[in-house]
Amino acid sequence: MLVSGCPCFAQSTSLRGVKVAITVDDLPTHGDPFPGIDRDAISRQILAALADNHAKGVYGFTNQAWDASEVAIFKEWLSAGYPLGNHTYSHANLNRVGASTFTADIARQDRVLASLASFSPLIARRRIFRYPFLDEGDTLARRNDVRGYLFGKGYRVAEVTIDYLDWSWTDAYTRCRINNDQKSIQWLRTHVNEAADRYLSRSVEMARKLFHRDVDQILLVHIGAFDALTLDGILREWRSKGVQLISLEEALTDPIYRINPNLAYDGGLTFLEQIGEARKIDTRPFAETTYTLESLSRVCRQPTEPR
Ligand SMILES: [Zn+2]
Repeated sequence: MLVSGCPCFAQSTSLRGVKVAITVDDLPTHGDPFPGIDRDAISRQILAALADNHAKGVYGFTNQAWDASEVAIFKEWLSAGYPLGNHTYSHANLNRVGASTFTADIARQDRVLASLASFSPLIARRRIFRYPFLDEGDTLARRNDVRGYLFGKGYRVAEVTIDYLDWSWTDAYTRCRINNDQKSIQWLRTHVNEAADRYLSRSVEMARKLFHRDVDQILLVHIGAFDALTLDGILREWRSKGVQLISLEEALTDPIYRINPNLAYDGGLTFLEQIGEARKIDTRPFAETTYTLESLSRVCRQPTEPR
């Protein structure tokens, strides 16, 4: 179990007037299966959380759909008024597969989305791209090849500035479900809001350091089982603190998203981290120290399992 760290950092950051665009990755399915999982119910709960919090213009970033029930999830999003973007067909990692395989994978997913054009006019807005694993190239040649392809096809890149590691909370939740560890599930449910707050505050502070103003932030979450349980509460709390939810397309008009950090890296970075690294600014003071990947990976982990 984690020990809750000092909450002073999160509480000292004013969130009033901060604008956040929500994006949801890995449609139609995310995370490992577990007994009783219902992918469509997860999707519907997330859509309800978005609607209940009056979130407009939320993009769902898509990969392949295996069958009609998974295509139905795409259609539910479109019917709810939410556009779909491209996240590659096979959730490829550019740094592992190389630029030509990667761009072919983008084109393949584009054909999947284009096949829904007669279902919804929102498909015309599909050319926004989210890099899987937030990896944009571990060499500048690879990075520039893919950017050249994307911009040549009229894509914009949906960068991420807030990532509270929701997927690793879903992983922990799945392990706790399998172990039937209700106490730990309760712990996860009561602490995720604090974690999301801390990561948002960290991004707001980092933007103020880099740009001396509040930027339009872009939140990454996934279509995961734990998101379905907790996204509504997180958004409600943020709104109660003065956060304003905006569409992704509005956020992308912030001039910061025209910056090319021109950075080769591996291992996934948010856009603010890329800019900080490119400018050689020490962003370590903004690093989260309590709700880390390492600490979350221990929740509901059997001691005999490799870590
Ligand atoms: Zn993804």
